[in-house]
Amino acid sequence: MVYENPDQVMIGLEIHVQLNKANTKMFCGCTADYTKNGPNECVCPGCLALPGTLPVLNEKIVDFAIKVGLALNAKINGITDFYLKNYFYPDLGAGYQVTQFDKPIVYDGYVSIDGEDGQEHKIRIRRAHMEDDPARLVHFGTIDKSTGSMADFNRSGMPLIEIVTEPDMRSPKEVRRFLDKLRSILEYLDVVDSSREGSIKADVNVSVYHRTRVEVKNISSHKAAEKAAQYEIMRQKDAYRKGKEVVQETRHFDEIRNVTISLRVKETLDDYRYFPSFDLVSYSVGGRIEKVRKTLPELPDARRLRFIKQYDVSDALAKSLTTEKEFADFFEEAARKTDPKMAASWADTIRGELNYRDLSIKAIRTQDLIRIVELFSQKKINDVGGVEIIRTLLDEGGTPDEIVVLKNLSMAQDDETERAAIEAVTENQEAVADYKNGTEKALNFLVGKVMQKTKGKADAKTARDMVLKVLEK
Ligand code: ZN
Ligand code: MN
Repeated sequence: MVYENPDQVMIGLEIHVQLNKANTKMFCGCTADYTKNGPNECVCPGCLALPGTLPVLNEKIVDFAIKVGLALNAKINGITDFYLKNYFYPDLGAGYQVTQFDKPIVYDGYVSIDGEDGQEHKIRIRRAHMEDDPARLVHFGTIDKSTGSMADFNRSGMPLIEIVTEPDMRSPKEVRRFLDKLRSILEYLDVVDSSREGSIKADVNVSVYHRTRVEVKNISSHKAAEKAAQYEIMRQKDAYRKGKEVVQETRHFDEIRNVTISLRVKETLDDYRYFPSFDLVSYSVGGRIEKVRKTLPELPDARRLRFIKQYDVSDALAKSLTTEKEFADFFEEAARKTDPKMAASWADTIRGELNYRDLSIKAIRTQDLIRIVELFSQKKINDVGGVEIIRTLLDEGGTPDEIVVLKNLSMAQDDETERAAIEAVTENQEAVADYKNGTEKALNFLVGKVMQKTKGKADAKTARDMVLKVLEK
């Protein structure tokens, strides 16, 4: 659903995704994983674009593209072909990029996100096409003030899929949500390792009041995309308010200063002189679609809905558990071996602590989650103790049982809590009187005293029950 927006903000994205989970590059046999190699070590005459070399299409990339298309609820072109997009740039050895034009492999899809109005909001996907990545320039200093650059061809010929949305996003926050959702889907599909630098890059197209559209290019983080959109909306509205025009141009987002800077006036399609590749014939995709469909994994939305049903968790919790595939796997493994509802809630706490530390799920083991659930359900630890175990585990290592001993986290036994409740009531007669006069807060005060006396190791509910029991005497 597309809703009214007073500022008529329209944001569309073009997202380049490096299909780095492929075995080899797009048109040659060089490895698609050059992360451990030095500059210009993963190259061949083909991806260096030496004269006389010919491209051979890596069919795995076609399958990846079909997979992405199906996951984006899109149509797949039965016959697809390649075009050459001509431009001169030092990182483009051939003088053209091999890409697609009027028959992109994927078209007409959508991705659902939570819209700003709280409703489900479909962001339409106009198309997605395959293309190869140029080499990489390494600039001395920042791009606008660089005094020199070096070229690294390891990236040249890497397979990309460029996903183009309709201008359906109405706020910077929706940009962030869309990109988060897209990354989640792509990771589930196992076509990209998004932790690799520059593996997902977005161009953000922004206009306000249905006027001139400005493109901010090459943004590599979701947060930066959100901020670039924020800045552009502000800049454009400001210009119109002052009676100035906004020029159609390409801008760069400076992540340090949080501003966009003019790079160049936008090229038009004509400038690229697209023409059909003379080396690659039309490719018949049709026969591969059904085969690929059978390999589609359960996707984030489906998994979220299943979690709600199967584990009786809220929508918000199910979403938190399923956004990252690895995390969802981590939780499900634990859920099979222990109380799933408790595991879900502790997994969510773990997720928060991991995010806070910028750690991946590899920092904790499933057996640790299972053990925390056991300790908690056997009342050997309370909430505070559980959180302390997780924090210690992540910061210092160890097992839950070791940490319980090390940090003295065993929960107070019932008789200990009862003694503390009797003391709390005896020592705080004023609060007792208040409670008896109907001040509910006085009860919380007494429970707080019990927690204090047990050094936070009583179970909060038991403490409350004990105080009530003593008060009734
Ligand atoms: Zn190569
Ligand atoms: Mn492109």
